[in-house]
Amino acid sequence: MSHSCFSSLKLRTELLENLTSLNYLTMTPIQAKSLPPILAGNDVIAQGKTGSGKTAAFGLGLLEKLAVKRFCVQSLVLCPTRELADQVAKELRKLARKTHNIKILTLCGGMPFGPQIGSLEHGAHIVVGTPGRIEEHLRKGTLDLQRLTVFVLDEADRMLDMGFQVTLDAIIAHMPRKRQTLLFSATYPEQIQTIAKQIMIDPVIVQVASTHDEASIEQHFYKLSGDEQRMDALRLLLLAHCPESALVFCNTRRETQEVADELVRYGFSALALHGDLDQKARDQILVRFSNKSTSILVATDVASRGLDIDALDAVINYHLSRDTEVHVHRIGRTGRAGSKGIACTLYTDKESYKVAMLEDYLKQDISNETLPSSNLLNKTPYQPAMVTLQIDGGKKQKVRPGDILGALTGKEGIAGKHVGKISIDDNRAYVAVNREVVKPALKKLEEGKLKGRSFRVRQICE
Ligand code: ADP
Ligand code: MG
Repeated sequence: MSHSCFSSLKLRTELLENLTSLNYLTMTPIQAKSLPPILAGNDVIAQGKTGSGKTAAFGLGLLEKLAVKRFCVQSLVLCPTRELADQVAKELRKLARKTHNIKILTLCGGMPFGPQIGSLEHGAHIVVGTPGRIEEHLRKGTLDLQRLTVFVLDEADRMLDMGFQVTLDAIIAHMPRKRQTLLFSATYPEQIQTIAKQIMIDPVIVQVASTHDEASIEQHFYKLSGDEQRMDALRLLLLAHCPESALVFCNTRRETQEVADELVRYGFSALALHGDLDQKARDQILVRFSNKSTSILVATDVASRGLDIDALDAVINYHLSRDTEVHVHRIGRTGRAGSKGIACTLYTDKESYKVAMLEDYLKQDISNETLPSSNLLNKTPYQPAMVTLQIDGGKKQKVRPGDILGALTGKEGIAGKHVGKISIDDNRAYVAVNREVVKPALKKLEEGKLKGRSFRVRQICE
């Protein structure tokens, strides 16, 4: 299918060559649909599920349009969280690596202003940031968007959920009217159509139907006699399947915390992920879940966006989503990257109408299954294979993964196969090790040195 080759697009040679070297051989469906109108200069609204390759779609659009010799901010990408902004900046740098002298800057909250102002004075072509901080720079006059040509709103649905509308309006007031506006989103609620009318001109709308693969995901539905049955049902499913990584969805922040607390009380390894957490707490939770030292993450839809986990063994809907599309998006996250996962949904009579809507949407009949035997409730919950150790030194102290691996596995150390994922932040590092080797691992890290220094090390407890 030649139309899905990147070479069918009018892209600069260096961008095309780089795509080949990145092993991006064909366009993903959302890229194939959105890149032609983007490159033609249209305003575009693109909707596709998480992981569909939206970043490269707008990324290639703005890189193609960029004039490296003009030292001014030509593109602004707004993302709802720092984590997502970092991911986008990383992908843009990857796509731009053959374009010389290009400056891509992230401007997010929670970081000191001084260095950001310094970097802005040095000139940046592309700015990726979160709304609050961008608006602050504009207000202070440290960021100038008068020569902006492309404006990207990434994860627009989530941005609106988080209440960024007013900040967004303030930011847009600083942009030239004549610009290209691109809006990317995982879902397409009405709110987006409203905002699109205000900030876009004749947008081309591209959507990649998300029902196709999801229809093939094995879904299990359990009808409960009442809400009081939910927790036992959840425990039974967890005890029966023992998922190494499970995502449990709730519809409210409060419920995520309640469900996680209760699971912990029953002896499970669970954490809650919701919008009330500060970035540091959120980062730490994500590290613990992705390195498999926490088995269960109880999250709201908004908070789980941008979660970059390859293989979820299970997605469990503690409550059915209010929105069919969101449901499909949730279960689409199970068994990623070719591995198989399960998708389970708990509901009561009050939610039956949502199940009927889902049948309609998926064009499938949904039948209920019986829960695993309640004898299982006596079983002791399983524990994650890994444990996270926190080291109080990170990028700023020049700590690298190799240093940590070396310290752990050196003379009389633990075996390399017992060391899991290593994640490094500015001032902290986290390493996952097998539960059986926690003591010797702690000892090695405490006694040994990293970059010639001793850092405080501790086990993060559930
Ligand atoms: P989204 O924003 O839609 O959730 P991303 O832009 O984060 O998705 O892309 C998901 C992953 O797919 C990234 O790791 C990215 O590097 C990869 N990817 C994107 N486009 C392609 C492509 N055409 N070929 C191969 N991999 C791709
Ligand atoms: Mg994205």
